[in-house]
Amino acid sequence: MPEYEAIIGLETHIQLNTTTKIFCPCKADSWNDLPNTNICPVCTGLPGVLPVLNHAVVEKAILLAAAMHAEIQPVSYFDRKNYFYPDLPKGYQISQYDRPLARGGYLDLPMPEGYTRHVSIHKLHVEEDAGKTKNQDDHRLIDFNRCGVPLVEMVTGPDLRTSDEAAQYLIRLRQLLRWLDISEGDMEKGHLRCDANVSIRPKGADYLNPKTEIKNVNSIVALRDAVQAEIERQIRRVEAGKAIEAWTLEWDEDAGVLRKMRSKETEADYRYFREPDLLPIRIADEWRQAILAGLPELPLERRARFVKAYELPEYDADILTSERSLSDYFETAVRAYGGDPNRVSNWLMNDVLRLINERGIPARRLNITADYLAEIIQLDMTVEDGKVALYRAKLRLSFKYEG
Ligand SMILES: [Zn+2]
Repeated sequence: MPEYEAIIGLETHIQLNTTTKIFCPCKADSWNDLPNTNICPVCTGLPGVLPVLNHAVVEKAILLAAAMHAEIQPVSYFDRKNYFYPDLPKGYQISQYDRPLARGGYLDLPMPEGYTRHVSIHKLHVEEDAGKTKNQDDHRLIDFNRCGVPLVEMVTGPDLRTSDEAAQYLIRLRQLLRWLDISEGDMEKGHLRCDANVSIRPKGADYLNPKTEIKNVNSIVALRDAVQAEIERQIRRVEAGKAIEAWTLEWDEDAGVLRKMRSKETEADYRYFREPDLLPIRIADEWRQAILAGLPELPLERRARFVKAYELPEYDADILTSERSLSDYFETAVRAYGGDPNRVSNWLMNDVLRLINERGIPARRLNITADYLAEIIQLDMTVEDGKVALYRAKLRLSFKYEG
């Protein structure tokens, strides 16, 4: 039996965390809100209304494009993507087609095994979301709250080779979204959605075989399991002398199996044309510079700097940069302490992180300041063992009572 390798590309939809929707002043995030409460004539597609672009959407999308090393386009256009579905009241979705906001880009994924996977970005554009359809008994219920919620669609090249790499891409993307504060990146709430294209070929071959598309995965674990199941299914079929058909598959998480869905529209079926009600997005140099001034040091860059500048083990640097405010907290404490950064790292990893995890809060919401932590570490150096336990206990108490 020949050895096979998988070819995986991921298509992600990222819900941006703007206050209002992309083309109207309705509240964007309707989590916990009753159906059809955050709607207006614009996002429900009533006749005679005009969309007005929310500039915060463009700013957040540009931050993401810059972080993915994509080329930001000075002029881009909106297009209508036409299709009929009950939760799409206008009969079209406002999206971008041939002149998107950004082109190219990549993410270098450091894998736990020690190698780096280079993942190219094929497509990055902004668009509006559609509503939600829910089947209940013999009724079909429609919620328009999600209509007009801002999305970035980002599609990778066929560069991922294993289900673990696919999962790692989502882990790093989610980290980046939260780091840039442009999306909650919560897959369970649909803030980050992912479809996967999967095919296989003999290892070392340079052609692409027909692929299948997996839809409806709503967690990182589900994505990894679904992709792995599909790779194994395709290998079994090829080994049995059967062809791979270009199916669209749905992952049933409870049963742990893939099911065939209806066939998908091809691009020609969408009859794209320019959106006549919106001007092109023009990004003047000053605006672009003002947005990019807000681009922080990225998580993987900071991770590399922590290893080099503070001589931390990679494992520690990875945990300390898992969240932006935690990495800020670490650096503030290192400066205040003035001694061995590894000592600060150990305190953070053992005592502080345990508390953060127990309480489920980010480091920026800690009541104990980084300066105070540095002071405790100083004291820890100067007292005998019995007292050290006391200081650790005090640290814990201060979390309990000040929260
Ligand atoms: Zn609205």
